[in-house]
Amino acid sequence: MRDESGSSKLVLEEKKAIKLFLWLFYIFYFAFELVYYYLDPLFTKKGKIGFPHEGLGIWLYVLVLGLLVPGIYIYKKGNPYVIKYLYVVGYVIFTMIDNLITYWGNSKPFASGSIVEVLFIVFSPIFINKKYFFVSSSLVIGKFVLLGLILQDSNTIPPIIIYLIIVAIASIVLLRFYSYIGSLKKVYEDLRQKEKLALVGQMAAAVGHEIRNPLSSLKGFTQLQKERYPDTNEFYPIMIQEIDRINLIVNDLMYLGQPKNIHFSKEGIEEIIAYTLSITQQQAQRQKVIVETIMEGPLPPIDCDGKQLKQVFINMIKNSIEAMPAGGKLKINVKVFGENKLLISIQDEGCGIPEEDIPNLGEPFYTTKKDGTGLGLMVTKQIIKEHNGEIKIESILGKGTVMKVVLPIIQL
Ligand code: ADP
Ligand code: MG
Repeated sequence: MRDESGSSKLVLEEKKAIKLFLWLFYIFYFAFELVYYYLDPLFTKKGKIGFPHEGLGIWLYVLVLGLLVPGIYIYKKGNPYVIKYLYVVGYVIFTMIDNLITYWGNSKPFASGSIVEVLFIVFSPIFINKKYFFVSSSLVIGKFVLLGLILQDSNTIPPIIIYLIIVAIASIVLLRFYSYIGSLKKVYEDLRQKEKLALVGQMAAAVGHEIRNPLSSLKGFTQLQKERYPDTNEFYPIMIQEIDRINLIVNDLMYLGQPKNIHFSKEGIEEIIAYTLSITQQQAQRQKVIVETIMEGPLPPIDCDGKQLKQVFINMIKNSIEAMPAGGKLKINVKVFGENKLLISIQDEGCGIPEEDIPNLGEPFYTTKKDGTGLGLMVTKQIIKEHNGEIKIESILGKGTVMKVVLPIIQL
């Protein structure tokens, strides 16, 4: 989750976290030592008052305080991520040496541990870093396991059990943090996507609007020329076809910018499919694609916006034809599906789509084609969603693709 080389914002967060951590560390550390060696013996009249002279004695405190020197140096260098490791490793090594000097080779029962060890584990979630959590927990627990083995003292077992319980609790906290941050990230990404779409939509609508009118007069004049000189120029049909192509793209663009006003009326799916085939027919012929349409039927009229559904099937059929540059068969099958649904499947024998790319389909501008726009499927998906329908994509690489559209016959 955390990018260790991270942006300056993340470095700032880490600096805040490490400052908080260091304050807590030193306050808890010295408060604990004070209570343990001064206040507790003072009130309970048990044990000697004063800091211990065994082990590293006062030197332990000097060493722990001394960690501030490399700590501040690293902090100033702008790499605060390392400091937490420095502390946990330093602390564990120093106390380990201290314990070994104190308990090695004598029969004194082992009694050690400090509140800061709890702190290392309990506060590790503030760094939102699984690696650190793992390192700090295993170092602290590992220290007691190792001491237990070296000193052959079962008094190390209770702290191990307590720390294991704390690790379990802290790991729950950490996982909650992770899942919370995960959903925040998702919300943020959704928002960004929406903003991107809104911007694209506005631009698209403006551009589409500007292109539309000149385009229709261009088409009108070309048609006129063609009629006037029917035998002289073989390019006119191509010109008209290309203008139609631009028109389709402009339609997709315009759709993005429109406020979604959808007009449902009862329309026959046969006519809608027939219209889309008439639009795509030329391209299919050029690419030697044979279209086979099966209407399993009597098919009831459906509640839909006919103009928009035409766009859906034009987009899908065009994609299928484009996926078969060397020709092939395109099967369109329409049938009633379940109680109140219509299933339209469009199957090609084209290049297919790699499985890992399927989730990208319908992302704005996602295209694998040299002259693709990556808008077709996006518009398609939106229109189908507005019709409360569903789209399923199955594809085998090199074999072909089936796109299944399920639409409710009656909008409830
Ligand atoms: P465009 O057609 O402009 O590339 P689309 O949104 O229509 O944009 O399609 C996006 C991408 O999805 C295509 O570039 C292609 O990689 C893939 N795709 C869509 N339909 C098919 C299909 N029937 N066969 C293979 N790939 C397809
Ligand atoms: Mg397309």
